[in-house]
Amino acid sequence: MKAEFFLADEAAQTEMGARLGKLFPRGVIYLEGDLGCGKTTFSRGLIQGLGHQGAVKSPTYTLVEPYLLKDHCVYHFDLYRLADPEELEYIGIRDYFDDTALCLIEWPQKGQGFLPPADLHLDFCVEKDGRSLKITALSPAGQAALQQLT
Ligand code: ADP
Ligand code: MG
Repeated sequence: MKAEFFLADEAAQTEMGARLGKLFPRGVIYLEGDLGCGKTTFSRGLIQGLGHQGAVKSPTYTLVEPYLLKDHCVYHFDLYRLADPEELEYIGIRDYFDDTALCLIEWPQKGQGFLPPADLHLDFCVEKDGRSLKITALSPAGQAALQQLT
């Protein structure tokens, strides 16, 4: 199942993130698209929508930022600077992918072969002054969430 959305401004971007987070609080989400297309902005809306009160920084330099929410963890990855997917073994990547966590992964193609499969694949693109967002559901859980989002 696929769906497409147009997000006219930054507020629409964070709002859509918050909506998706409430429908899909656990599992694996890949966020793809060029630099500046709003992946981190969307993630910020999602994480804050799940109750995180502080800032959401881009994990470009840290590779991953953990957020301990009320009843589960969100791990926000940005693999842009990863030179070799094997480096993920050294940071103990497997420990992040437990059944209760939500993993948001920017630049998943840089970690190919070392990441779990996505439930939802998000593809962002600059369009006019806003962003287009294509969502593909790749698992039953992802499908259920996407159905409610549309
Ligand atoms: P990425 O993580 O994909 O590199 P960012 O989330 O850092 O992108 O966003 C880059 C810029 O795009 C930010 O200045 C942000 O405010 C802006 N932006 C995000 N979403 C939208 C949108 N829907 N419309 C217009 N600008 C947006
Ligand atoms: Mg980013």
